[in-house]
Amino acid sequence: MLALAAAQFGYRTHVLCPETDSPASHVATITTQADYTDENALAAFAAAVDVVTYEFENVPASTAAFLEKHTVVRPSWRALEIAQDRAKEKTFFAEIGVGTPPWRGLNTEDDLRKAVGELGCPCVLKTARLGYDGKGQAKIYKPDDIADAWKAIGGAKAKPHADGGPFAVLEGFVNFRCEVSVIVARGVDGVVQAFDATENIHTNHILDRSIVPARIPSSMLFSAVAAAGLAATKLDLVGLLAVEFFITKNGDVLANEMAPRPHNSGHWTMDACETDQFQQMVRAVAGLPLADPARFADVEMKNLIGDDVNGLDQYHGNPHAHVHLYGKREARPGRKMGHVNILKR
Ligand code: AMP
Repeated sequence: MLALAAAQFGYRTHVLCPETDSPASHVATITTQADYTDENALAAFAAAVDVVTYEFENVPASTAAFLEKHTVVRPSWRALEIAQDRAKEKTFFAEIGVGTPPWRGLNTEDDLRKAVGELGCPCVLKTARLGYDGKGQAKIYKPDDIADAWKAIGGAKAKPHADGGPFAVLEGFVNFRCEVSVIVARGVDGVVQAFDATENIHTNHILDRSIVPARIPSSMLFSAVAAAGLAATKLDLVGLLAVEFFITKNGDVLANEMAPRPHNSGHWTMDACETDQFQQMVRAVAGLPLADPARFADVEMKNLIGDDVNGLDQYHGNPHAHVHLYGKREARPGRKMGHVNILKR
């Protein structure tokens, strides 16, 4: 989708990824299939392009740092490094005055016992790095669950990361009223533009639906938008930043995590906004002025997960339903195959 947006501006894209037959390769000008740690391939890639960006946050930060020595990388590797690590992310939010759920960093089962004692049950154990869609997470309902939870996230092999960061974090469970996310773009000139906040409904830890406008008071949405804009500015980020929040029953707005890239919860912008998140990202990374992200319709985005992709008839007859498929060959359970944006008209 990013490559398609780039093509609208007349840009050619060169994709580097380890997979064969990646969805982006179907629409990019050139694809290099290489490991993210292959420095020869990375150097050749950097020499062939004007600017590098990423749309997947588990590209190693060291890869982005390597590329930054050879060419322009937007957003910078530093933003990626913070977003890849839950402990760094939460520390960053605290530094800029944005609230998060209470949390502790930990490296051993004893640390976990102590943290559960401090935060109370229920609570959620998460690996600090490389988790997404609920992977690398275990909920702890009572102290008896501690050993199993530790095992479930691979605690047997736990050790601090090379930079001293903790292997895992424990978070207090937030009995939230709803989850929202905000996507902001920040240009090379420091101008920030925000898309409307999105209400997100997860099923089995995977985003199922995004509803816009979010069904909560606008004062809470303003807080979320302000926090996301502040985060992008403090990171000195050029590109997109998506921040996910819990809205508590008291109306507190707590940051959960962030990603310096286009976000699934922003896919509705493709059919309901003057400019969408991909076009806005292309503008930012190419150094163009940002466009107006104004929304012109209420909208619901439904992810097409696994077999959902075989039930498209219900959308084909609806003139307000816009189906986007990613061209993935095989529909596996839990795999995001596409999405549909349904405009409320
Ligand atoms: P995450 O990978 O951190 O986005 O977590 C995936 C989903 O699990 C979130 O979108 C929430 O629905 C749920 N979740 C994660 N952390 C917490 C928490 N501390 N309290 C309540 N629910 C959570």
